[in-house]
Amino acid sequence: MSKIYYDHAATTKQLKVVTEAVNDAIENNWYNVSSGYTPSFESRKIVTRAQKAVSDLISCNPNNVLFTSGATESNNMVIKGVLEATDITNPHIITTEIEHPAIYETLKAEAQKGLEVSFAKVGSDGRVKAEDVLRLIKPNTVLVSVMFANNETGVLQPIEELGYELHKRGILFHTDAVQAISHERIDVEKMNIDFLSASAHKMHGPKGVGFLYVKDFKTIKPLIHGGGQQGNFRSGTINNEAIAGYAAALEYCLANFDADNERVRSIRDFVQERLLEAIDGAVVNGSLDNRIPSILNISFPYIEAESLIMTLDMKGILVSGGSACATGKKEPSRVLTKMGLSSDRSRGAIRLSFGIDNTMEEAVEATKVITESVKYLQGIRL
Ligand code: PLP
Repeated sequence: MSKIYYDHAATTKQLKVVTEAVNDAIENNWYNVSSGYTPSFESRKIVTRAQKAVSDLISCNPNNVLFTSGATESNNMVIKGVLEATDITNPHIITTEIEHPAIYETLKAEAQKGLEVSFAKVGSDGRVKAEDVLRLIKPNTVLVSVMFANNETGVLQPIEELGYELHKRGILFHTDAVQAISHERIDVEKMNIDFLSASAHKMHGPKGVGFLYVKDFKTIKPLIHGGGQQGNFRSGTINNEAIAGYAAALEYCLANFDADNERVRSIRDFVQERLLEAIDGAVVNGSLDNRIPSILNISFPYIEAESLIMTLDMKGILVSGGSACATGKKEPSRVLTKMGLSSDRSRGAIRLSFGIDNTMEEAVEATKVITESVKYLQGIRL
């Protein structure tokens, strides 16, 4: 039997149209986009096409899109770029306790160098309340960074409400939309988002490419200095081959948005329902109502997630516990712990993340195998 892949929040398989676009650029449009001769103009069109695809997806001006090596870079760029650009001498940044390490660890590193950082708490449903974020505002607050949807639970955060309130107060607002961008309709203008990070490999594009949307270039300084590419905001020769693949992935996403998300949701809901029915004490982690359609974080009593992940791997089902980055770590997930879950519940939690290449037939098979495996491991433990 071929593998059943339920780890789309970690990465996704490149679409055929993406591989074709990358190969076409490698063969025909490999010129340096910054050069002055005519073949470079064609290569440059790839970047313009990708910017247009981003602008269609998040309703922004295409000129406000910078391509990066991925969301880790985009997130670093916002934090460090805003700190460089501000004229406030003792700046303060607000974030949440459940951010991806690309924000969380970046801010912790800055805090060690003296930055004032506040972490908004989340409820047991995995959501921050906008009022709890707003309560942390100080006169020296320069930036608020709140992820659009959490990568472990899929829980959506109150982005529109925060955008509205922060805009009124003149505070810059960043959202890490890596997990949400292909599942939720995002309008950066309407939502008053100043910066948005995203990554191609989470939506069937190539690894090593992402973007940062910047509403106003006066609010940020470059993180990487060099040849002055991308308006001097992100130096380095532009990776037009990868960006060609990203454009294809973005265009695919736009054309299939509703149908794909409906299908992914129905598979996720089927798996959730079957597992809750079949396994006593199984419980979903995070809000059931405010969630992207692709993620199910579920705890089973009397098991260790690590053992279940290994057992499922041997049976051809690929899942993870919490985020892919946390795999191999012994401590329970920071996200689930901050939600106030008991350590037993956190240790028994796995993340199933679904995608456009999953089928209902797989879901029937997977729920059977997961149920058998959980019961087998519980038998050993009990
Ligand atoms: N932010 C979130 C929410 C993520 O899920 C990830 C990847 O796991 C990242 C940032 C990092 O993205 P990249 O792999 O493009 O650096």
